[in-house]
Amino acid sequence: MPTQPFDTIVIGSGTSAYYCITALAKAGQSVAVVDERPYGGTCALRGCQPKKYLVANAEARAMAHHLEGSGLSAAPQTNWEALHSLKNAFLDGIPEGEVEEFEKLGVQNFFGRATLSGPNTVTSMAILLKPRT
Ligand SMILES: Cc1cc2nc3c(=O)[nH]c(=O)nc-3n(C[C@H](O)[C@H](O)[C@H](O)COP(=O)(O)OP(=O)(O)OC[C@H]3O[C@@H](n4cnc5c(N)ncnc54)[C@H](O)[C@@H]3O)c2cc1C
Repeated sequence: MPTQPFDTIVIGSGTSAYYCITALAKAGQSVAVVDERPYGGTCALRGCQPKKYLVANAEARAMAHHLEGSGLSAAPQTNWEALHSLKNAFLDGIPEGEVEEFEKLGVQNFFGRATLSGPNTVTSMAILLKPRT
């Protein structure tokens, strides 16, 4: 298996990785990032951000339901298809945008699972995400 040296290898591309990667790359380090899932991590793709659409909808419905008969005639129904389209429209392009941002900073982007195999070694069968030409 070929080896490649980096000043820093970051496993994961979530929020914590993002700040670490951008700061180190801007400071002149050679940085590699490897993630086995689409770039962006939990917060942007599966946690904080998408959750806000679902929670806001649920809270609005719960409040309206609570006030039914007290000035509101009927609580609204959720249009699941529209709600998920809205959420997914927000998520569209996040992984590609992050890969592109890292590329511009000279970071090498790998896609696959990484394992710590020594004090200074990360092993991965990951593939290199080619910079756009
Ligand atoms: C439903 C939900 C709602 C949330 N809402 C909020 C909120 O409102 N506010 C808030 O502050 N926090 C919220 N959080 C918590 C927040 O999402 C996490 O604290 C944050 O995402 C952690 O960021 P991270 O970069 O440490 O890890 P993650 O964003 O989880 O990134 C880890 C990345 O590492 C990759 N990875 C892990 N192991 C390997 C490996 N061996 N090889 C390759 N890749 C690997 C994973 O694929 C992943 O992409 C929420 C979480 C969830 C699940």
